[in-house]
Amino acid sequence: MKKTRDLENYKFYIHTFGCQMNENDSERIAGILTKEGAKISALLEESNLIILNTCAVREKSEEKLYSFLGRLASLKKTKNITIGVAGCVAQLYGSELSEQKPFVDFVIGPDNYQKLPQIISDNIGEKILSTSWSPEWQETPSELIFRESQVSAYVTIMEGCNNFCSYCIVPFTRGREKCRPIQNIIHEVKDLADTGYLEIQLLGQNVNSYRDPQTGKDFSALLRELNRVDGIEWIRFITSHPKNFSPEIGFAIKESEKVCRQLHLPVQSGSSSVLKRMNRGYTREDYLEKIELLRDLMPDINLSTDIIVGFPGETDEEYKETFILLEKVRFTNIFSFRYSVRPKTAASKKQDTVPLEEKRRRLIEVQSLQKKIQLEHNQSLIGSIMKVLCLGESKKAPRIFSGRNEGYQVVNFKSKKDFIGKFVDVCITSCGPYSLIGEIVL
Ligand code: SF4
Repeated sequence: MKKTRDLENYKFYIHTFGCQMNENDSERIAGILTKEGAKISALLEESNLIILNTCAVREKSEEKLYSFLGRLASLKKTKNITIGVAGCVAQLYGSELSEQKPFVDFVIGPDNYQKLPQIISDNIGEKILSTSWSPEWQETPSELIFRESQVSAYVTIMEGCNNFCSYCIVPFTRGREKCRPIQNIIHEVKDLADTGYLEIQLLGQNVNSYRDPQTGKDFSALLRELNRVDGIEWIRFITSHPKNFSPEIGFAIKESEKVCRQLHLPVQSGSSSVLKRMNRGYTREDYLEKIELLRDLMPDINLSTDIIVGFPGETDEEYKETFILLEKVRFTNIFSFRYSVRPKTAASKKQDTVPLEEKRRRLIEVQSLQKKIQLEHNQSLIGSIMKVLCLGESKKAPRIFSGRNEGYQVVNFKSKKDFIGKFVDVCITSCGPYSLIGEIVL
């Protein structure tokens, strides 16, 4: 391997678009670069290396990238900066992006971040493209990861997806599923516990299909193993897939006291015919059966989901089934979107029949229903005392702190003392649809 030129002349700024996995990748990129002498900066203006870690999941996230690149193109006319595009848009368009944006110095896909120091040190005026797939898991030693939070840590357990839901770009930008050896995950979590982390969030596009490449141990086994790590108090994971969510995982959550009673289980649509066209691999009835099982096992579990409205061919009746499912399940939170055509996906070959106005109407209707459900749910929590992990102090209101309860709901509370990084008991005194407000119970 050619010697990497020391990167100490570089001050880098990373802008992250998209999901938690991208945030964790940016933490990895920062770790890999600082190890080679580069310095991280929170200010774009004072940096000479700017990396955009991109998201391709919706058209909008791509548009955000192009407007950001527009700003950088003008900045580059007056300042000597190196610009790199990483992440899912880099992987999706690769050389096309280099050709269209000649001021971009390198384009790098998620399987190539280990090569970054070499790419930057070799980058003398030529454009570099690095979007090859790696069949093997690429381990980044946990001590290298430059973590944003000192309280809650992301731990990636697998990458890629084999499901090919017909609307989804992820299999084309993250490749086939690759699972991380279970011993590496346990080692990282023990490390994190030793350095004082109280909460970990396991990340993967479809964590339920996790399998240890050496022993074949599955996701429920991983949860039980991590439940034994001293020092960690809360374990969360995202993202699950109803098709792979087995009863064993439900029992593992119930029987592992550190695994939070909170689950994000994306349903996407309440209509079995739409789910079929989405290639989701389950029906409305299958999904409701899993919800019933979970609530039988853990009546207090907090459930959230993803919803897409306006999928090609979605009739009023099919849309109504989504609306009724939300009324029936009463999720604690939802992430809802109108269908967005993505290149290369099977759905992009279907006619996008639902007019934009109608997509918008359906989205607004779903969101206002959910707002009402969340407000009613939160109002029922007034007077209760709950355990909250304090994550930070409000920038707007001094002595107002913010944290998350076990259900991953935002809880804001007044306190004279700083409890950041600690668990506190909070008595809920009021609420809105999207957060709870309370007073600390000492
Ligand atoms: S499970 Fe479906 S929606 Fe999720 S990442 Fe895989 S292809 Fe995309």
